[in-house]
Amino acid sequence: MNLVFTEKHTENVGLSIGVTRQLYSGQSEFQLIEVFESEDFGRFLALDGFMMLTEKDEFIYHEMIVHVPMAVHPNPRNILIIGGGDGGAVRELCRYKSVEHIDLVEIDEQVVQVCKEHLPTVASDLDDSRVKIHYEDGLRYIRRFTDYYDLIIVDSTDPFGPGEGLFTKEFYGNCNKALKEDGILSNQHESPFYPLDASAVRQIHKRVITSFPLCRVYQAHIPTYPSGHWLFGFSSKKYHPVKDLDCQKWEELGLKTRYYNTKLHKASFALPTYVEELIREV
Ligand code: SAM
Repeated sequence: MNLVFTEKHTENVGLSIGVTRQLYSGQSEFQLIEVFESEDFGRFLALDGFMMLTEKDEFIYHEMIVHVPMAVHPNPRNILIIGGGDGGAVRELCRYKSVEHIDLVEIDEQVVQVCKEHLPTVASDLDDSRVKIHYEDGLRYIRRFTDYYDLIIVDSTDPFGPGEGLFTKEFYGNCNKALKEDGILSNQHESPFYPLDASAVRQIHKRVITSFPLCRVYQAHIPTYPSGHWLFGFSSKKYHPVKDLDCQKWEELGLKTRYYNTKLHKASFALPTYVEELIREV
């Protein structure tokens, strides 16, 4: 083993993973797409040098961005995912028999093709008959809808490059418009730990709270993301993420998860003081 993948998290801190081989490298219209194989994290996907997911810990991110809102909404049938071309969020949603339709809006078709070929355990349900893939910028796509989706999941890259528009006030306002009167938005909310990431958290929160009456932040431990401490947003027109959680109903579905459970669901909204302060500063 002589190849090493390194993502810099700050000027002086980074994550390095020893790589056994590079499975794919290609420049799409939008970004550099790479897939590597490693002993410790299995295969992993990087976009423009930033870690997107590894086979070893992707279940944490995908379970938390999907099951938290799914366990709160009483009847989520029509769902939109923006980004998420790897298919991990689709896979988790497809486990619910009640889900009737999923629109996946991914700007980069090449991400989908590469993940289908090299990350089949993540992309496993992209061909499910309930899934329709739209290759389009999510910022433009969302403008067309009013009172239409039960749940929107924003599974985007970071707030720069093609993902930048998915962190704007205009985008969150249009998500609100596209959701039904009891709709929920879940989104990846960056990491609170290093100063640059923390300022992104503050900015995302500041923008999302102007568009939704209820916005809460929840957390998970994701080893391959900067600092390992990751946040998600839960924004809603009606439901409270903890008071409206029906534990029994979700448990009766019998879904086998490895990270998510209803006890952790409640606990994930209890934030460390420094994160509460970060969000309160907004
Ligand atoms: N879980 C990952 C993370 O936070 O590191 C995100 C993974 S997923 C691969 C992110 C996807 O969002 C990428 O495939 C990217 O092409 C897509 N994306 C970025 N900007 C987008 C936009 N404006 N509209 C739709 N998809 C977008």
